[in-house]
Amino acid sequence: MFLVIMGPPGSGKGTQSERLEEKIGIPHISTGKIFREIIKGKRESDLGKKVKEYVERGKLVPDELVIRLLKKELKKDGCKHGALLDGFPRTLKQAKTLDKILEKMETKINLVLKLEINQETAVKRLLQRGREDDTEEKIKRRFEEYEAKTKPVLDYYREKEKLIKINGEQSRDEVFEDIISALKERALLEQ
Ligand code: AMP
Repeated sequence: MFLVIMGPPGSGKGTQSERLEEKIGIPHISTGKIFREIIKGKRESDLGKKVKEYVERGKLVPDELVIRLLKKELKKDGCKHGALLDGFPRTLKQAKTLDKILEKMETKINLVLKLEINQETAVKRLLQRGREDDTEEKIKRRFEEYEAKTKPVLDYYREKEKLIKINGEQSRDEVFEDIISALKERALLEQ
């Protein structure tokens, strides 16, 4: 099963993805997490400098670079039968390329979960979390990127009837329960 989890910064994508990975046993791919590792130099680092320029300014990393990285991740054995994509796709170009990649793998996206949250709650959460890109100025930039480039991806999936809205204002447990119910309703998980 291929799932995509979307939502603005601070909507809880990472937290919910980790719980989902544990529950349903499909690998969780977080492009943001991989980028942070690349920057820290835990992974091959020619990329490091380039990626850093974008991530640290709250800008989206160029499509070409992200797509290359995602292809590499999806080639890993564990991802043959499914993956949970957290933070990818974030642009229409990424979404359309993902469709093509999955088509080649003779599979497709089953469902896209959209975590909905108002900006005020999200900012509050982010400032509490305090990651390096969680300063007020960078958060603002990330929201702008989301509005301009990622919102069209939501429309793309809505038109394909793959989009499910989840109320991200609730507690972590409640959000998780809603996600599980949504998967069961669509027979992606056993009752
Ligand atoms: P995240 O951990 O998902 O909030 O991502 C952190 C940062 O990594 C983002 O602000 C972007 O700079 C970069 N990033 C992560 N995923 C993508 C993507 N799919 N496309 C472009 N940039 C990304």
